[in-house]
Amino acid sequence: MRVPFMDLGRQHAPLRAALLAKMAEVLDSQGFILGPAVADFERSLAAYCGTAHAIGVSSGSDALLVALMALGVGPGDEVIVPSFTFFATAGAVARVGATPVFVDIDSRTFNLDAEAVRARFTERTKAIVPVHLYGRLADLDALRTDATARGIAILEDGAQSIGAEGPDGRRSGALGTLGCHSFFPAKNLGALGDGGAVTTDDAALAERVRVLRVHGSKPKYVHHLVGGNFRLDALQAALLAVKLPHLESWIAGRRANAERYRALFAEAGLVADGRIVPPDDGPGRHVYHQFVVRAAERDALKAFLEGRGVDTMVYYPLPLHLQACFRHLEVRAGELPATEQATAEVLALPIFPELTADEQAYVVESIAAFYCR
Ligand SMILES: *Cc1c(COP(=O)(O)O)cnc(C)c1O
Repeated sequence: MRVPFMDLGRQHAPLRAALLAKMAEVLDSQGFILGPAVADFERSLAAYCGTAHAIGVSSGSDALLVALMALGVGPGDEVIVPSFTFFATAGAVARVGATPVFVDIDSRTFNLDAEAVRARFTERTKAIVPVHLYGRLADLDALRTDATARGIAILEDGAQSIGAEGPDGRRSGALGTLGCHSFFPAKNLGALGDGGAVTTDDAALAERVRVLRVHGSKPKYVHHLVGGNFRLDALQAALLAVKLPHLESWIAGRRANAERYRALFAEAGLVADGRIVPPDDGPGRHVYHQFVVRAAERDALKAFLEGRGVDTMVYYPLPLHLQACFRHLEVRAGELPATEQATAEVLALPIFPELTADEQAYVVESIAAFYCR
């Protein structure tokens, strides 16, 4: 058997006719830049996230960048970020000329450790960028009061967490000052190309993001701000509008697969002996963008599974504080121990919604075969 890490073909097959019809509609409309397709999708997305505003942008990376620009973050400012995340989280901070301040994670949740964040507050701290890694919400309640009191903005990196809910039902993208979303094809809600969005309840910030998205132009050819071309394509917006109504069922599929993995691990005795540590489901609703286990002998296990036809991934093998481009920040190896340990132990298993029970059984059987070899 061969188990792919993901297979968008299975997701798109039943939507093929609807997606092709939308492509034809956009083609015939000749409206390729912003316009009603983008505005319609923005309204649906804001309703889904439970925010007053949603602004479609060119990617998740640009969502982070334009949100930092809207907050006025720049040279001399510090922005607290995890080191255990995709590069864009810290890359966006560096691109606006501010300083990323890397903080360690909580080993159990893989998300920013609230205590460690508080310890790094200075008078220069302008924002915190919590990442809801793998689709599990970071604990913002533990930070919101202190951040607000100090005038520190919370910018959610929700690239992996659309639809994730806190215990009170509030969703990713509605929990901070601004929320950033990615529609990279492999994300839980993927476009057929690049795309992203910023959500917020703050009308003034929403307006700044809208203006920055078109080079800071308002009215046309008049610039009070320097922005960029951060627009979401009308074609991608139209395709995302076809896919958004299915997101809830895809999330349910991911959650059911996570449950099945837990049961299969327990049955195989892999959890009891501590060689596999499945992810904590957490309070609220984890959306399992990734199902990431900690595994003893991770690299050998990954190679063994590859030999059995099971694709797995490592998110992320090198922490950001040890990347060459951030060497000047002088964060040394050993300073963020939970992050560094995670990079050595994490392994993402296939979890896409259309994964079958047989495929999952084969994955767990193969893992058991590794530890019993
Ligand atoms: C995917 C991702 C991004 C960037 O999104 P793009 O749409 O690929 O630019 C940012 N942060 C995290 C945590 C991500 O997983």
